[in-house]
Amino acid sequence: MRQYSGGKMKNIFDLTVEDLEEYFINKGSKKFHALQLFNFLYEKRIKNIEEVTTIKKELLEEIKKDFSFDEIKLVLVEKDKDVSKYLFELYDKEHIEAVLMRHDYGLSVCVSSQVGCNMGCCFCESGRRKKVRNLEVYEMVEELLLIEEETKEKITHVVVMGIGEPFDNYDNLVKFLKIINHPKGLSIGARHITVSTCGIIPKIEEFSNLPLQINLAISLHAPNNKLRSEIMPINKVYPLDELIKAIKKYIEKTNRRVTFEYILLKDINDSKKCALELANLVKGINCYINLIPYNETNNLSFMRSNTVQIMEFYDILKKNNVNVTIRREFGSKISAACGQLRSKKEEL
Ligand code: SAH
Repeated sequence: MRQYSGGKMKNIFDLTVEDLEEYFINKGSKKFHALQLFNFLYEKRIKNIEEVTTIKKELLEEIKKDFSFDEIKLVLVEKDKDVSKYLFELYDKEHIEAVLMRHDYGLSVCVSSQVGCNMGCCFCESGRRKKVRNLEVYEMVEELLLIEEETKEKITHVVVMGIGEPFDNYDNLVKFLKIINHPKGLSIGARHITVSTCGIIPKIEEFSNLPLQINLAISLHAPNNKLRSEIMPINKVYPLDELIKAIKKYIEKTNRRVTFEYILLKDINDSKKCALELANLVKGINCYINLIPYNETNNLSFMRSNTVQIMEFYDILKKNNVNVTIRREFGSKISAACGQLRSKKEEL
C-alpha cells in the first residue's frame, strides 16, 4: 500500500497536460498518454490509477512511484439556500475555504489561493493572518474536484477570490488555470474564470501575455491614492496612478474588459465625493464596477454602508455613464466573506 506523502511528493493534480507530456517523453514513452491520463483523472474521476486501461501496467507502476495521489480533506460544509461554504484541511493541518454559489447561469465556486495573506487590507478578514504558504496547484484543483464530488454537479464558473492574493502565487495559479480550463481537464471556459488581484502591477503585465481569455478583476476600493494607501497597504508599493496605467496597457493588449471591485465601507469610501472621483478615475476605461456591500465581521470594526447610501453611490456612477452593478449578496448568514469560516474554526 502506498504511504500518504504528506505533501512531500509532487502530486498528480499538480501537472498540466504539457507537464505530463514532458513526463511521458522523458520516460521514453508517448506524449499522447498525457491526454489519456487527464481523461481518467478529470472526466472519469478514477481514484485508482490501476484502472487506467489505456496505459500499460509497467508505466502505471512508474506513475504510482513518481507521484502522490494525496487529497485535501473536506472537514466542514455549511449550507444555505443558494450558497455553501467548504472548509478543507491540508496535509500540514492548515485550513482553507471555498464558497459555492448558485446563480441562474450556473454553479460558481470561489477558491482560495494561499494559506493566509500578506496584503494586509485592513477591512479583510483573511489578512488578519499572515501568509503561511502558497497553495500547491493540486490543492487549488482539489477544492473544485471535492466540491463537484460532494454536490454531484458540474462547476461552470470559477472566481479566484477566496483567501490569498493569487498574483502572489503566480506560477501555481497559472498551472491551476490551465488545468481547469483544459477541455480534458475540468473544461471550465476561460470566460467563465475570473482572477481577482489587489493590484500587483508586474503580474498584471505577465497576465496580459497569458494566451487564455480569463477575466481580470481589480480590488480598487478607493478612488484616490491617499485613501487607498490607508486601507490597502499594497498601494504604497504600487500606487493608484501606476495601477491605472498598467490596467490601460492590459486592456490595450488583450482587448478585454476589466472589473473593478469596490467595497462600500460606511463613512470611509462611500461619500458622493468618492463616487464622483471614482467616475472620473475610470472615465474612458473599458471596465465595469462591481459595488460590494461590505460583509461585516465580528473581528473588524468596519461597517456596511446603508442601502440609501449604496443606491446614491450607484446612481452617481450611472449618471456619469459608468457600467456599474451591485453585487448580489450571498451567505452573510454562513460567514461566507473571505476568511470568516476559517477564523471561526480556529478562533483567531
Ligand atoms: N487578494 C485578492 C483576492 C481575494 S479577496 C484581491 O484582493 O482581490 C476577494 C475580494 O473580496 C476582494 O475584492 C476583497 O477586497 C473583498 N473582501 C474582503 N473582505 C470582504 C468583506 N468582509 N466583505 C466584502 N468583500 C470583502
